[in-house]
Amino acid sequence: MPQAQPKFVILDRDGVINLDSDQFIKTPDEWVPIEGSLEAIAMLNQAGYRVAIASNQSGIGRGLFEMSALNAMHEKMYKALANLGGRVEAVFFCPHTAADNCDCRKPKPGLFEQIGERFGIELRMVPVVGDSLRDLDAGVAVGCIPHLVRTGKGAKTLAKGGLPDGTRVHDDLAAFARWLIAESAHKAPAANAGAHSMNSGPDR
Ligand SMILES: [Mg+2]
Ligand SMILES: [Zn+2]
Repeated sequence: MPQAQPKFVILDRDGVINLDSDQFIKTPDEWVPIEGSLEAIAMLNQAGYRVAIASNQSGIGRGLFEMSALNAMHEKMYKALANLGGRVEAVFFCPHTAADNCDCRKPKPGLFEQIGERFGIELRMVPVVGDSLRDLDAGVAVGCIPHLVRTGKGAKTLAKGGLPDGTRVHDDLAAFARWLIAESAHKAPAANAGAHSMNSGPDR
């Protein structure tokens, strides 16, 4: 592979960054981070990774909450992240329901394509982290590398099986972040040194 991968990570939101609920997350009060998840994003940032979120938010299309509520949740997230020295570049979300047949509701890859265009990055080999199969399928459709976390619906997703080839499983986002940072530190010298590496390690 000729060029280094962009240091970029695409995350699902509910069940990965914040606690999920079958009743939907409808208000900023209901938006509660999973322990260590915001610290994990800050850790990724410090290691040079930019982070974007791709999230299905059909609660909007179902009329369960308004855009203003979604914005308020994300303000809460941005502030909490800023307190830890972390940031996400943007939240890309699909407001539609399945009945809308849009191109952006995961497992369709529309949100990922939007992210690639907005940031001018090649999505191939970019890690995607999710707790549902559709998160991983959407990413894999555009060449991302799938990572499942056991938080949120992750344990159920894992039990169901049928994950994309090469899916790595992590206890939570913090475990993923530690893994990715260790992996990139390990790979960078090898990729620079030899022609036999399968993966071009990110630049350090
Ligand atoms: Mg989720
Ligand atoms: Zn959509």
